Order: sequence, then C-alpha cells, then structure tokens
Amino acid sequence: MSIKQAVLLSGGVDSMVALAKLLTLYPEPQHVTTFSIKYPSKHNALEREASENIATYFRVKFVEIDLTHVFASFKSALLTSSSKPIPEGHYEAESMKDTVVPLRNFIFATIISGILASQLNNDDKIAQLWLGIHAGDHAIYPDCRQEANSFLARAIGEATENKVFLVTPFINMDKIEIVRTGLSLAAPFKLTRTCYTDDPIACGKCGSCTERLEAFKTNGVLDPIAYRV
Ligand SMILES: [Zn+2]
Repeated sequence: MSIKQAVLLSGGVDSMVALAKLLTLYPEPQHVTTFSIKYPSKHNALEREASENIATYFRVKFVEIDLTHVFASFKSALLTSSSKPIPEGHYEAESMKDTVVPLRNFIFATIISGILASQLNNDDKIAQLWLGIHAGDHAIYPDCRQEANSFLARAIGEATENKVFLVTPFINMDKIEIVRTGLSLAAPFKLTRTCYTDDPIACGKCGSCTERLEAFKTNGVLDPIAYRV
C-alpha cells in the first residue's frame, strides 16, 4: 500500500520547502499532487504562476481548484474586492490583521481533504495533506495556530474515517528556520513568490516581504528574487 501525498502550494517559501522536505522523505514525485487555489486575492495570479513553476521543477502533478465565487462575500485587504491597501511594515504589526481572510486555511484544507478522500483507491488507502503553515503566521492568522490545527487535523481524520491526515511540519518553526531548512535541501527559492501586492516585482515593504527578507538576512544569504526596494 502506498500513501497518496499532497501539498497545498501558495507559491511562497513555506509550502515550497514543505514539498522539498516531503520529497526527501518520500522520493516518488509521481505519487505527489500539489494543489493551488484560485481565489480573488490581489496576488493570486502571481502565486499561481509560482506554484506551477515549483510543481514543474519538482516534477509533481499540479491541480488548480477554482474557488473564485466562494470568497465573493469575504472582507480582507488581501482580496481584490477591497480598496484597502496592503499594509506595509512588520508581519506581526496590528495593521497586518487587515490581511486576514477568515478561515482561509481551514477552507482550503477541508476542500483538498475531501478531494483526496474521494480519490483514494485500493492502492492508496491513506492520504497525507502537507501544509506550510508556521509559527510566524500565528500572531495574525488564528486559523494557522497550533491549537486550531490540532482540532482541524483531528476533525479531518474523524470525518474521513482516518483516511486523510494533515501534516504541518513547520507549525512550531519560524520563517528563519524554514529558510534554513530549505537551504539545507538546496530548495529553489528563486521560483517562489511571497509578496502580497499585485506587482510582478516583490515590493520589499509589505509584512510578507519584510518577514522573508529578515529570514534570508538572518541566515546570512541573499534572497535570489528581485525587489522594488
Ligand atoms: Zn511585498
């Protein structure tokens, strides 16, 4: 029996390193599926492009799920329906709470878990869904916190009769440790997209860019992507 493996890609560093880590533990890319979610965030087209490039690099299957209309009534500065600008500054600043999309992580994880449970066959009796959520998300994104994800993992396990398991390898790691892990795996950081804006060149000023730049600097290496600032 093989285990069906899946990774939710955001195009960013965390989920890319999660995929790299999964493939070191389970070097069978033909059995790994990556998922990208199409939803109306300002940076979605760019994160989708990055996600597909990452999937191509690792030679794993790439599946896009279109949730455009699901988020039509949601309110967040991250969404195209909002005229609020993407806040600049540190990720843990109060203003970054404007970028919360309520339950986004839960919604993505449960939908993909449902797809995995539907697709299990006699060869694949169990599926694992890897998520790149990490300790740096905890301050502003309640659905990325450890306690919330313990409940989520248990709920998905119970609701699928223990066929689908959530794997959150970075839940207690910060971005600095994730970048360090990626460097040790020679992960392709140049393919990732972290910035929350819709500018093809990363802004270097939003909370997401700031956290990423700090992580590379602390690790003593240059971030290989281009920045406006
Ligand atoms: Zn940015």
